[in-house]
Amino acid sequence: MTDFPAGAPAFPRVTLLPGKSRLFYSRHPWVFPGAIAFADSGIPDGAVVQLCSHTGSFIGWGFFNSRSRVRVRLHSWEKERPPSPALWRDRIRSAIRLRREQGLMDPDGACRLINSEGDHLSGLVADRFGPWLSVQVSSLGLSQRLSSLLDILADETRCRGIILRQDKEISKLEGIEQADGPCHGEAPPPRVEFLEHGLRIGVNLAEGQKTGYYLDQRENRLAVAPLAKGRTVLDAFTYAGGFALRAAQAGARSIVAIDQSHGALEMAAENARINELDGRVSWLRAEVFEDLAARVETGQKFGLLILDPPKFARAKNRVDEALGGYRRLFSLAFRLAEEDSRLVLCSCTGSVTRNMLLELISQVAAEERRDARLIRVSGAAADHPIASSCPESEYLKCFVLGVS
Ligand code: SAH
Repeated sequence: MTDFPAGAPAFPRVTLLPGKSRLFYSRHPWVFPGAIAFADSGIPDGAVVQLCSHTGSFIGWGFFNSRSRVRVRLHSWEKERPPSPALWRDRIRSAIRLRREQGLMDPDGACRLINSEGDHLSGLVADRFGPWLSVQVSSLGLSQRLSSLLDILADETRCRGIILRQDKEISKLEGIEQADGPCHGEAPPPRVEFLEHGLRIGVNLAEGQKTGYYLDQRENRLAVAPLAKGRTVLDAFTYAGGFALRAAQAGARSIVAIDQSHGALEMAAENARINELDGRVSWLRAEVFEDLAARVETGQKFGLLILDPPKFARAKNRVDEALGGYRRLFSLAFRLAEEDSRLVLCSCTGSVTRNMLLELISQVAAEERRDARLIRVSGAAADHPIASSCPESEYLKCFVLGVS
């Protein structure tokens, strides 16, 4: 456990190459090795460092990690404010204020409380589900100071307990060793319930995907609901049933919801039951690409199709592969779309941009000889702010199309 710096001792320095400073003066938080001229010798991984220009001018404070592609992760650009518990508290308070003013701090609700770079806490994600927090740390520097951070989070939110849900791949890359599980206060029960725009949703925070639930799609689920009225709906990649239940509530004629995860479908079916929407949705355990291809073969058609697949590529050099996946999926969707239907196409692959997807959609529509109109383009819900200095942290795209 490394302590926060007390007072202002001399911190080690990382010095940038000439011409590489501008991005970081503009508050970009990730310093890659290619921008660095040299680092003081012997800096321990996770230590607080000063980032300096090639002329030695101060740029910002960050955490050093020799193992990570993000060699320095910047957290403060004020010389008199190196990382400290007081700084975290300010950042966390400001993040809570942002959610409170959006009406998202209702004790029974759920929201993303801390969105990493978007809340100037690069490497920290905290989702709130009623009185419970589910936290993910992807920065070694923060993980070494986790207990202090959790104390502040618990104090500022008055939560009952916090559970840690690490991304295994990122932990390995960063050299983070914390294990998943309850890490502060009480342990959450196996099923944690909260309200999402009046729907009761229950999830398993210990075993569910990511931090337990996909809060980023909350506003999109609400926006899509009215399109479901009177239509036959297919919700592919349903997870805990978010889109399907919203469609059922909005008066869909029938709904098929598909996921390959048994645990996800169990949660979804229970969510249907507690909202008295069971019987309205058929939950199907299947691989989506295969299932959709089989439906195309038998000539099935739907009035509203929602496709919210998982990330298709992590790395930037896999963009083509990811686009290939979207192409196959979008083609299947167009073939299953009835006359004057609605298509909801989502992508959470950060390296695949909105424009790439729009281009792909027009190509696929042309190939399938369909007329497609763009009705709505949106991203993640407003509790997922994006720092203007770090546009590449935006990942979710959601397109609503009218197809005839
Ligand atoms: N639409 C959901 C979130 C979907 S997350 C919501 O609104 O909350 C992606 C889901 O796709 C996960 O539940 C995962 O289990 C499922 N999944 C991933 N690959 C799949 C595949 N090839 N076939 C079926 N389901 C898949």
